[in-house]
Amino acid sequence: MSRFLHTKFSSLTPYDTSGEIESMNGYIRLNTNESPYPPSPKAIAYSHEASQGLNYYSDPDCSKLAAKIAEMYSLNPPQIVFGNGSDEILNFIFMAFCENGAAFPNITYSFYKILADFHGVDFITIPLKDFRVDVSSFTAMNGRTIFIPNPNAPTGIAMSLHDIEAVITSNPQSLVVIDEAYVDFGANSAVNLISQYDNLIVTRTFSKSRSMAGARLGWCMTNGELSQDLRNIKNTITPYNINAMTQAAGLGSLEDEEYTRKNIDMIRRVRDNTRSRLQEMGFTVLDSSANFLFAKHESISGEKIFSTLKKNRIMIRHFSNPPEISDYNRITIGTPEEMQIFLDVMKGITENETK
Ligand code: PMP
Repeated sequence: MSRFLHTKFSSLTPYDTSGEIESMNGYIRLNTNESPYPPSPKAIAYSHEASQGLNYYSDPDCSKLAAKIAEMYSLNPPQIVFGNGSDEILNFIFMAFCENGAAFPNITYSFYKILADFHGVDFITIPLKDFRVDVSSFTAMNGRTIFIPNPNAPTGIAMSLHDIEAVITSNPQSLVVIDEAYVDFGANSAVNLISQYDNLIVTRTFSKSRSMAGARLGWCMTNGELSQDLRNIKNTITPYNINAMTQAAGLGSLEDEEYTRKNIDMIRRVRDNTRSRLQEMGFTVLDSSANFLFAKHESISGEKIFSTLKKNRIMIRHFSNPPEISDYNRITIGTPEEMQIFLDVMKGITENETK
């Protein structure tokens, strides 16, 4: 730490990306919930074309993207705000709307806690019940902003729209953020509820089903006023937050729904098959609606499975915290070929350890 750093940043806890960098070379990377498939050819072609115009600043409103998404969900373009990944949208939300604190599940996307700490937002965590978001516990939030991923991460378990609506209606003083990073893999979107509720934000990303994690593009949808607040923050600190190549790639992806649909179908098929195979090997595997599985073995520790796979150049995600999930690992669904290699190594691990 230099002597010039503001004291408020003296004890930051950045998001842990070490496992991700390590997995770059020659590893099968089943640790960061990316798509194993390349972006749509149309996304690549549009982005290449856009690279010719990089001498100009990018469109601060992402007008073409906003028009396309508005058409897809029957919204008006100003209801949509784009972020450099949905992480940036979450950051804007923590800045804008968490004066009364935040609330999120105790087992969920780790970035919420990191952002809360960074912005000095007081937060509470609500325990899951049998690994499910327990709607009855999300009451009397006293104006805290509620963050819930649907499906949740790292469990992969989805919530019903009925339950989401119950959280929204039982907390009229709170803003409810439904983080739909993984929604395309099997959950129901809350997007149709935004016309009814002025306390709902739905966030989305191009990083998962649209194979564009490296492009950094996410967005949110609200009834309108909330979006204007977020846009004001964005335009104050980072007006050109989405680069021109990414905007173009995003548009190409949205114009090629067939490609995304095909990849989602494949990932879901491979996910369900991998789940059955793991269950046959003695794993408990939660019922995933996402592009990953959350699994623990009946007799082998989560750490042991993680480290043995790593020796075999396969990265999955191990969580040592909180203790109740330390025997679970999160496994991103790769290509059928990658998952076959993974399952073969897993078979070896379970046979050796249980002998
Ligand atoms: N929400 C959840 C639940 C996630 O798992 C992730 C990905 N790590 C994100 C949001 C952010 O994704 P991105 O910034 O790539 O859109």
